[in-house]
Amino acid sequence: MERKVVFSGMRPTGRLQLGNLLGALDNWVKLQDEYRCYFCVVDWHALTTAYDDTRSLPENIFEMVTDWLSAGLNPERNVIFRQSDVKAHAELHLLFSMFTPISWLERCPTYKDQIEQLREKNLATYGFLGYPLLQAADILAYRATAVPVGEDQVPHIEMTREVARRFNHLYRQPVFPEPATILNRVKLLPGIDGRKMSKSYGNVIEMSESPEVIRRKVNMMITDPGRIRKNDPGNPDVCTVFSFHGVFGAGGVEELAEVCRRGQIGCVECKKRLAEDLIACLEPVYARRQQLVGKKDYIREILAEGARRAERDSAETMEMVRGAMNLII
Ligand code: SF4
Repeated sequence: MERKVVFSGMRPTGRLQLGNLLGALDNWVKLQDEYRCYFCVVDWHALTTAYDDTRSLPENIFEMVTDWLSAGLNPERNVIFRQSDVKAHAELHLLFSMFTPISWLERCPTYKDQIEQLREKNLATYGFLGYPLLQAADILAYRATAVPVGEDQVPHIEMTREVARRFNHLYRQPVFPEPATILNRVKLLPGIDGRKMSKSYGNVIEMSESPEVIRRKVNMMITDPGRIRKNDPGNPDVCTVFSFHGVFGAGGVEELAEVCRRGQIGCVECKKRLAEDLIACLEPVYARRQQLVGKKDYIREILAEGARRAERDSAETMEMVRGAMNLII
């Protein structure tokens, strides 16, 4: 029977925002019906850029896994675990590093981009250069057949396929499949001030905000700056509120654009409608999070059980790898 195995990971950055829900988690929730899924908190990856301050790591992990469960991931049907609990990832990374040309890593577009973007950090490190290879090890430790990723990560999956091919060719055994890419449907949402949504700008809407906070944040959203009075014609194309209506609105976006252009709806009313639609969309997520707040022991148990299952499954792969490389005597 065809193996259908998905691996995907997320760096622990704390509570997740709406973009994470729409860009990745919604997709993960669908995949859990069709694939055996490994969802991994990639804490070693977090160290590649934040090695100098790790204090928030444990709390960020609890918050992120709580959000995963709030989004609807089922810990019984999926393997939910922390990368650093399963040492096969490190061993496989090391073994892959023996035959991976440095040029494969240097040509990854994210390498130069991130060094440029994170200029204040010293990223001229071995760990940072090698993180796409660690990612390849994460995926191939479970011989995953598919990986859901955003557009920016596609080159990394292509490199993972190259690593799998090279291994199979060098050691003449078909240990690894070449995983396919499942592109996450990305809905780019601006922050409430109209700039890119980012924690560093303080303009984020988290995926599990309370109804009160949603109302307050929607109320603060930037609208068409050219619109002074309630019945001035508006321009929805430059309005943050309208971008959100397009994603979360209960319907009638075209009509809304029309009445906005004719000045027949005020921004206050338009924001009220958005807030209520957004609250309705996020209600199941919020309700699940309320059940999980403060349940750190429960999250710990899920991660421990996930680690046990990941350990067992990756051990099978490592046996095949060690055998193929003549590391068993
Ligand atoms: S009416 Fe709505 S879409 Fe139009 S400018 Fe105001 S908030 Fe934006």
